[in-house]
Amino acid sequence: MASFDHEMLCPCKSNKAYKACCQPLHDGHLLAHSAEQLMCSRYSAFVLKNTTYLIATLHPDKREVDDETVLKQTMAQTQWLGLKIIAHTPTGKVASVEFSAFFQGKSEIEQLHEKSHFINENDHWFYVDGEILPTIKLSRNDLCFCGSGKKVKKCHIS
Ligand SMILES: [Zn+2]
Ligand SMILES: [Zn+2]
Repeated sequence: MASFDHEMLCPCKSNKAYKACCQPLHDGHLLAHSAEQLMCSRYSAFVLKNTTYLIATLHPDKREVDDETVLKQTMAQTQWLGLKIIAHTPTGKVASVEFSAFFQGKSEIEQLHEKSHFINENDHWFYVDGEILPTIKLSRNDLCFCGSGKKVKKCHIS
């Protein structure tokens, strides 16, 4: 796990301190109360290179023996910049969350736009799988995905 100042803002861009946001979930002190919260905590686990949490919150049927290796490779190659939750569709014990996660590509900023599927079993939310969707167009006047509070055009995309 990467070293991280716990007073700093949570990587999930909630604008809360890490210790008041995703840390209790990462440490196992709290369970995610919604698929959206699990989604955010999995994103911040990616940023913090917490493979243990990512595997623990992946549905047991979906786990593969090489999960940890694959995750570590992805983490080493990806510099995440921010997260935008687009839609959250809870339907009881199954839910979906649509999001775009932004990362630094070779020359420009790239985006993972995904609709993720979650299931709740015995009060635990698990990530099941996701559909990759076409990238969304950002309005240059939107607030930037990185959480700076500035407009996109004045921040990450000029
Ligand atoms: Zn968080
Ligand atoms: Zn930005």
